[in-house]
Amino acid sequence: MSEPVLRKASAPGRWDRVELLRYKREGEAPFEGVTRQVLFEDAGGAQWRYFEVAPGGHTTLERHDHTHAVMILHGGGRCLVGDTIYSLAEHDLVRVPALTWHQFRAHEDRALGFLCLVSRERDRPQIPSDEQMAQLGIDPRVAAFIRT
Ligand code: MN
Repeated sequence: MSEPVLRKASAPGRWDRVELLRYKREGEAPFEGVTRQVLFEDAGGAQWRYFEVAPGGHTTLERHDHTHAVMILHGGGRCLVGDTIYSLAEHDLVRVPALTWHQFRAHEDRALGFLCLVSRERDRPQIPSDEQMAQLGIDPRVAAFIRT
């Protein structure tokens, strides 16, 4: 079965015949108000996804060996990458290196929609252990930012 050449945008952040999926299975990892859509799966070994974080929501605090290439498509928020918190606006680009703790948070009053490119073949995300959480929490700015 071949994929359609064109999927028209039906609304900001939605496309014809692109299924709106859960971000992760319930209980698999902590997160709040995140949806996932897979836009392309056969792009030369890459998978291109679109995530939307509801106002006040957040993705999982995690790290993994694979990398992320992210583009903010609409809305805004902040992200933690490593030990730095970045402010995010539309069309900003974020690179998440290998084995680097990261978490995305939407503004309280605005959703955060972003594109994320990954390898189709990739390792499972790691969630911080109690010891790693304690290490992350040494920096008070990071401690105030992260949600688990
Ligand atoms: Mn990740």
